[in-house]
Amino acid sequence: IIRIEKANKWFGQFQVLTDVDLEVRPGERIVICGPSGSGKSTLIRCINHLEKIEKGRIEVDGIELSGHQRKSVDAVRREVGMVFQQFNLFPHLTVLQNCTLSPMHSLGIAREQAEETAMKFLKRVRIPEQAQKYPSQLSGGQQQRVAIARALCMNPKIMLFDEPTSALDPEMVKEVLDTMISLAEDGMTMLCVTHEMGFARQVADRVIFMADGRVLEVAPPKTFFGSPQHSKLKAFLGQIL
Ligand code: ATP
Ligand code: MG
Repeated sequence: IIRIEKANKWFGQFQVLTDVDLEVRPGERIVICGPSGSGKSTLIRCINHLEKIEKGRIEVDGIELSGHQRKSVDAVRREVGMVFQQFNLFPHLTVLQNCTLSPMHSLGIAREQAEETAMKFLKRVRIPEQAQKYPSQLSGGQQQRVAIARALCMNPKIMLFDEPTSALDPEMVKEVLDTMISLAEDGMTMLCVTHEMGFARQVADRVIFMADGRVLEVAPPKTFFGSPQHSKLKAFLGQIL
């Protein structure tokens, strides 16, 4: 459902992605890890065109992105939900309004229907009672679950997560990971940048290690953690485990 071929990207002179290949099949759960600055966020952002690659191809659900036409960008963004490290909720809107805004304005769904869907997903992330509150009145873990519900309200085919738990206090990490695990159990296609290796072991079909803008290793979690090949991966695992 995602096909990335020889993706290359530069920020000025600095090459942030070098010949990245990645294929994600429907229903697959992929975890991406790697040292800070290795290009993980950039890669994720290229998939829904928050950034663009200079060379190579990215195709999402059959939509080619290298043309950069407005139409294909919009089409891709409709199919891809994104959850960030900083929750990026609209502070001046209630939880419910955060969840209904895009469905109403981008998809043209009627308010009543949008609210019904929003409540369904707020129940799904187990915070329906927070619907009328503002983001600032919620804990970090609750805010991140709103961000997940908000993405789900757009009925995405793929969910991208960029370190969704790394801005959270430790006691709130679990509630967000549990939400992600339950999404995975429901068969959602997921691409997650995270250093939560327990999560990777539990749900990932494949784990990807990036360093210096390259994919250095791809393996099922058992092999990835049990017999890492690349010296940089060994060093990395040594640091975080
Ligand atoms: P982290 O684990 O810290 O989130 P990352 O793997 O997500 O790191 P990226 O955010 O993709 O890394 O950044 C990769 C490199 O590109 C870094 O060296 C960063 O400084 C650089 N970079 C990222 N965004 C920009 C930008 N908009 N302009 C210039 N350089 C950038
Ligand atoms: Mg990042």
